[in-house]
Amino acid sequence: MNYLLQPKKYQHLISDAGSKAIMEKTIHFFESLGKTRLTDDFHKKVWYKNFVEFVGKEQIFAKLLTPKAYANGDPDCRWDTARNAEYSELLAFYGSGYWYCFQVSILGLGPIWMSPNETAKKKAAALLKKGGIFAFGLSERSKGADIYSTETALTPASDGTWTANGEKYYIGNGNEAQMVSTFGKVKDGTDDYVFFVTDYLNKAYELKKNVISHQQYVSNFALHDYPITEDDILSRGSHAWDCALNTVNIGKFNIGPCSIGMAEHSFYEAITHASNRMLYGRRVTDMPHVRRNFMEAWLRLMGMKLYQRRATDYFRNAAKDDRRYMLYNPTSKMKVTLQAEEVINLLWDVIAAKGFEKDTYFFTATSEVRGPSKLEGTVHVNVQLIRKFMKNYFFNPKAYDPMAPDFSDKDDLFIFDQGPTGGLGKVAFHDYLPTFKKFADLPNINCFMKQIGHFKEMLEKAGPDKAQDMDSSFSLPLGEMFSVVVYGQLILEQCELSKIDQDIVNQMFDFMIRDFSRFALQIYGMPNTKKEQQDYCTKIMLIAAQGDAAQYDRVWETYVAALDGEYAMNE
Ligand SMILES: Cc1cc2nc3c(=O)[nH]c(=O)nc-3n(C[C@H](O)[C@H](O)[C@H](O)COP(=O)(O)OP(=O)(O)OC[C@H]3O[C@@H](n4cnc5c(N)ncnc54)[C@H](O)[C@@H]3O)c2cc1C
Repeated sequence: MNYLLQPKKYQHLISDAGSKAIMEKTIHFFESLGKTRLTDDFHKKVWYKNFVEFVGKEQIFAKLLTPKAYANGDPDCRWDTARNAEYSELLAFYGSGYWYCFQVSILGLGPIWMSPNETAKKKAAALLKKGGIFAFGLSERSKGADIYSTETALTPASDGTWTANGEKYYIGNGNEAQMVSTFGKVKDGTDDYVFFVTDYLNKAYELKKNVISHQQYVSNFALHDYPITEDDILSRGSHAWDCALNTVNIGKFNIGPCSIGMAEHSFYEAITHASNRMLYGRRVTDMPHVRRNFMEAWLRLMGMKLYQRRATDYFRNAAKDDRRYMLYNPTSKMKVTLQAEEVINLLWDVIAAKGFEKDTYFFTATSEVRGPSKLEGTVHVNVQLIRKFMKNYFFNPKAYDPMAPDFSDKDDLFIFDQGPTGGLGKVAFHDYLPTFKKFADLPNINCFMKQIGHFKEMLEKAGPDKAQDMDSSFSLPLGEMFSVVVYGQLILEQCELSKIDQDIVNQMFDFMIRDFSRFALQIYGMPNTKKEQQDYCTKIMLIAAQGDAAQYDRVWETYVAALDGEYAMNE
């Protein structure tokens, strides 16, 4: 059984014929292109015109990103978060640049589908049909995460229209998007936030440069008295603000699949190389430390996939009274992306020189894998966000109906109507304990539960005081510990749904226990940690994963070593 994406034996997540065709055509596109051209284009930083033409010709973005209501009857069109995640993973498997083109189109369409402006929505649907790509113009060079300080300005004219002025930085697809959802403020005395649409073809839109050195285009553009009419206004005031954050909620969920795809392709190359490399008369993979690196990389990759899959169900079924995704999405964003960095590190430590070779996918991944954790909210931003849920998660559970896996062909329309972004303290979660208890017979889950128990008691009896709470160097590792619990819970929920071999489940929690201890050690060592907090950290750190050599060997033989030669991209 191979749980990793294997394009040549592709296991479709979404089974309708239209969705299958999208994945198969995309695999065919990349496998026909071949690895030599793929890596060459990456190194020469060639804008992927061929890919944009391909998705346009096959109507792929149109099918994936047009809600049914604007689809003119095309039965394959819908906004399906599960399908978009599947597609993201597949694109990144071949190159994160291709994924980025899709990702920023998703972001650009967010404020459009969230808008009451029907003219703009119909225009977006028509452009999608014509093969257009989209852009999200939020960031400005000096402002970073501080979007309160946005300087792009919309000034009213006497005839009821506006002129836009300002400069945007880091805007993907800004070189070819005919609808750039641009964020600014209305300079009519209100300073209201506003989203409006700009077009790179307009002469008042100055495309200044690509700010990064890459085949993807991350633009710096300026607007010089750019004319804006009512038809271009997407949202205003608090709605525009909510659209910005709610679009990022959508986009950040799509970043985990990118990291997964990169790690998977790299894994195939690494295990195939190492398994066939003979040193001192034996295979490199016969060395115990090498085996350990592969095991850990594979188990971490499994965790990433299981978490992301389960979190998708919660996002697809979110509602005004079920906003659990507000915790699960940032957890995906920070954990899955960072885990991918660990996977590549573990693999690269083994394949060493091979990972530098220019005609490997692996090399592209080494230079790309650290990107996803930093975009759409750095790890710090996301950890600070999830900390807001810690109290309710541990101390005020709420009963919900069980969340069924969702592969239906529905439009995920709630994500365009998420409502005000506040009220996070009111979001409630189902009790995490029953999930863990179902696996309590497995020694490592049992150990992990003990760690959670100490952590919860620490929060209850020796929680951070006000000063510690305000000190982000203290609160961040605390948030990281919390994220490990959430991560573990959804991984286990998915293990149950997918009936994952108990050997794998138990082995996965070996690294989870070590991760928990690592953050406990960080808190232990902070200069402002109190004695009673250190005592709890010690209890957590002293819990060691339970070794099981026979089980370890079974997982190695059955699932990991078996991937030697399993996949190689066409040359
Ligand atoms: C390749 C690439 C593509 C991009 N694509 C787009 C795009 O298409 N559209 C777009 O609008 N933007 C885009 N961006 C911008 C991207 O979203 C920003 O980089 C991101 O918002 C973070 O801003 P910053 O990197 O300037 O970090 P800063 O905002 O300068 O943050 C620096 C540090 O401050 C701390 N910090 C800041 N705020 C907080 C907080 N609230 N809580 C805790 N810590 C905090 C963190 O430690 C953080 O690491 C892109 C950027 C890159 C590099």
